[in-house]
Amino acid sequence: MISSTQAIDLENTYGAHNYHPLPVVLEKGKGVYVWDPEGNRYFDFLSAYSAVNQGHCHPKITQALVEQAQTLTLTSRAFYSNVLGQFEKYLSDYFGFNKILPMNTGAEGVETAIKICRKWAYEKKGIPENEAQIIICENNFHGRTTTIISFSDDSDAKKNFGPYTPGFIKIPYNDIEALKEALKQPNVAGFLIEPIQGEAGVVVPDDGYLKRAYNACHNHNVLFIADEVQTGIARTGDLLACNHEQVKPDILILGKALSGGAYPVSAILADDNIMSVIKPGQHGSTYGGNPLGCKVAITALEVVKEEQLAQNAKVLGDLFRTEMQKLVDKYDLLVKIRGRGLLNAVVINDTPESDTAWRFCLDLKENGLLAKPTHGNIIRFAPPLVITKQELLECVSIIRKTVENFIK
Ligand SMILES: *Cc1c(COP(=O)(O)O)cnc(C)c1O
Repeated sequence: MISSTQAIDLENTYGAHNYHPLPVVLEKGKGVYVWDPEGNRYFDFLSAYSAVNQGHCHPKITQALVEQAQTLTLTSRAFYSNVLGQFEKYLSDYFGFNKILPMNTGAEGVETAIKICRKWAYEKKGIPENEAQIIICENNFHGRTTTIISFSDDSDAKKNFGPYTPGFIKIPYNDIEALKEALKQPNVAGFLIEPIQGEAGVVVPDDGYLKRAYNACHNHNVLFIADEVQTGIARTGDLLACNHEQVKPDILILGKALSGGAYPVSAILADDNIMSVIKPGQHGSTYGGNPLGCKVAITALEVVKEEQLAQNAKVLGDLFRTEMQKLVDKYDLLVKIRGRGLLNAVVINDTPESDTAWRFCLDLKENGLLAKPTHGNIIRFAPPLVITKQELLECVSIIRKTVENFIK
């Protein structure tokens, strides 16, 4: 057994320093809880960026993983497997799209959507080759590949990784007029959007924005591409965040909770008229659609339905914001609580450059709750969706106690 100090030393010594973790080492997880090697228990209020919506080490998902791991794990797509088609049918019925393209990570899902959108533009819409433009939003987060960081605003994510991929038009988020203007430009193929901007600090657009954006895209024969890698799979109190406005994206990107944190699985979903542009040899991944990932994903989605996680996220999300609003009203340290379902964030009363939110998270950790700042002064609160009302209220007490004792 190694101690927390040893574990941190090892990572610092042998690992690339591409993250800045909170100084806590996790050794075990169950449901909403995680434990460090010294036996301290914490509420996980990050849920691996919403990958663990079903809770840590969900017994049914773990069992499916173990059984499939003992049966068949990888075939590559050189051959059919008995699980892939079942997975594709299950997702098709579950989300209401004709076709599925499986990948592994969220960023690969986004890359896949970009490629298919461009190909659709050339082959179906008639845009001249190499001229397709995709509209994206300021402060987006869609992953870490070279193309994706080409349209990021985050200088850490972007600087000195150029030259950048062209073909993207940036507009402000939640600005329908800006979108309508951009749609007038020539050769626009798609609009790629997070229905709620997670990494930017849980930025929820105005009511009606997604629907209007979708309609505007359709008026211009432009594909509406929803990146629901973080917002999807019950997190915001509905199966998809787009469902809140009855929008069915032309291309839907899923990842993270698609496999409940047990194994990397992502997928893009679209109807035949779009997905049919992809032919053999034109896109893929060795592990994409492997039997192990497929089995885990089917089971992870079953759990979401069986345990009514969307309903729980909705009810407890409303409760959480109500309770947090009382703290915001009472304490100067907190400026604002916002979010939808159990994807929420509190804004701390200091500049994004300050370390106030970071120090507040260190205190939360001491009191048994794990959360991490995003963009300096914003803290995301996103527990596993299996959390109970009693546990949630206990967490609000932890946050209240931490605010009361916090010295700015
Ligand atoms: C996390 C995330 C991604 C990237 O997923 P990875 O699995 O880390 O590649 C893409 N889009 C959104 C909205 C995300 O939150």
